[in-house]
Amino acid sequence: MPWWRVLLAPLLDVFRPRAAARCLVGASRPAFVAVMVLSLVAIAVTVVGLTLWADTITGEWGWRPPAQVWQNWHERAIDGWLGPLEVAFLLMLVLGPCLPAFLAWLNLPLVYGTGSAWRSYKQSFRAATGLLWPLALAVLVCGSTAVVQEHAFYGVPPGALAAQPEFTPLLVSSVSALLLVLWLVRATRALAPGAPDPVPPPRCEGCGYDLTHQPAERRCSECGLDIDASLVAAGSRPGSRWAAEKAARAWWQTTVGVLFRPRQFYRRLQLRTPAAADCGFAMWSYVAIGLCAALWAAAMIVVISMQGNPPPREAWLVIPFAGTAVVIIGTLGCWFGHRLMGALVASVWLAGRALPDFRWAAKVIEYESAFLWVFCAFWGALLSSLAIVGAIVGGPWLSMLLGRSALFAFLPAEAQVLLLGTLGLVGVWAWRYWVAYRAIRWSNF
Ligand SMILES: [Zn+2]
Repeated sequence: MPWWRVLLAPLLDVFRPRAAARCLVGASRPAFVAVMVLSLVAIAVTVVGLTLWADTITGEWGWRPPAQVWQNWHERAIDGWLGPLEVAFLLMLVLGPCLPAFLAWLNLPLVYGTGSAWRSYKQSFRAATGLLWPLALAVLVCGSTAVVQEHAFYGVPPGALAAQPEFTPLLVSSVSALLLVLWLVRATRALAPGAPDPVPPPRCEGCGYDLTHQPAERRCSECGLDIDASLVAAGSRPGSRWAAEKAARAWWQTTVGVLFRPRQFYRRLQLRTPAAADCGFAMWSYVAIGLCAALWAAAMIVVISMQGNPPPREAWLVIPFAGTAVVIIGTLGCWFGHRLMGALVASVWLAGRALPDFRWAAKVIEYESAFLWVFCAFWGALLSSLAIVGAIVGGPWLSMLLGRSALFAFLPAEAQVLLLGTLGLVGVWAWRYWVAYRAIRWSNF
C-alpha cells in the first residue's frame, strides 16, 4: 500500500470504517503518528478557516476580506505572531490525542479478550484515531452550516427571523455525531478478539473448582454441586432468547428477562459462544429508545397544546428539526452512558483479572443496554409530570412540594431529583453488574 494511501486511509475509507481500522492497526509506527498529526492539523486548519470565514461578516463591521480579519486577529498578538489563534492551534494538537485515548478506553471491553490488555488498548487507540479524519469532515460540514446560518441572520431584517430554520445547524451537528458514532462502532468491529488460547478449564458453577479431573461420585468435591449442573449446557446454560432468534419478539422477551430477572438471565447465558451470537441486541435497544423518545415528544406537544398552550405558528417549522435533533442527541447520550458504565465496570474487572476471558464482559455490557429503559422511564416520567402536573397546579410542582432543601440550595428541586435519581440508578446498575459477574464468572459454555 503506498504511503499516501495510509495517511489518508480513514478519509478514503470513510464509508468502510473496518478497512480503515485494519489499515491503521497494520501501519508502521511512524506512518500511524503521521496519520494522527495530519488529521489533527486538518481539524485545526478547518476550525481556523471557519472562524476566519465567520468573522468576514459581523453585525457591527459589515463584510471585510479574510486578509483583514487575519490582520485584526494579530494586532493583539504577542510579538505580532503568537496570537490567540496559534495558541488554539497548539492546544488542539496537544489535547487532540486525548479524544482517541478516551474512545480507545471506552471501546476496550469490545476489543479485549485474553492476553495483553495493553496491546488491545493500543490497537483500540489506532482504530479510534481513524475517527479524526471523519471528524475533520464533520467539523467542516457543521461549521459551514453554522456560518452560512449566522451570515444569513445578519442579512435578514429583525422582524422576519421567526421563519428561519434556526435549528438547521443543531440538526446537522446531531446527524454528524450519529454518523461519527456509527463509524467508530463499525471500525471497532474490525478488532474483535479471537478465542482464548489455551481454552480455560471447566469449572464448578457453584464454587469455581477446577473440574478437569471429574470426581467419580459426580459431585463437586468442594461444594457438593452435581457436576452435570456445571457441564451439561442444556440444563445449566441454554442461552438467551436473543442468541437463539434475532426477531422482535425474542428481543422483547430478552429485554424483560434481563430487566426483571438478571440473576436468572445471566445464570443461563452462554458466554463462550462467538460474540456474533449476541450482537445487535444493544443496537436495537438504542433504535427502540430513539423511536419511543420521538413518540413521547410528539405526545407531549399534543398534551401541552390541548392544555391551551399550543406552540406559536412559526414554531411548527422548527419543531420537526429541533425534535429530531433532540431525539438523536438523547439516544447518543444513552449510548454514551451505557458504554461509559460498561468501560468503568470492565476496567474494575480487568484490574482484578476477574474473568478468564473478557469477551464475556462485552456480552454482559451488550445485554445491560436493557437497563437504559429504566433511566428513560425515570426521566420521561419526571419531565411529563413537570409539564402536565405543572400545568394543572400552575407551577413547578416539585419545587412547590419540597421547597428548597439545604443539600444543594443553589439547585431547584427538579434538578436535585433528576440528579440524585440518576445517581441512584447508576448505583443500581453497578449492583446489577455485580449480580451478572457472580452468575458468569465460572461459565463453561
Ligand atoms: Zn463446587
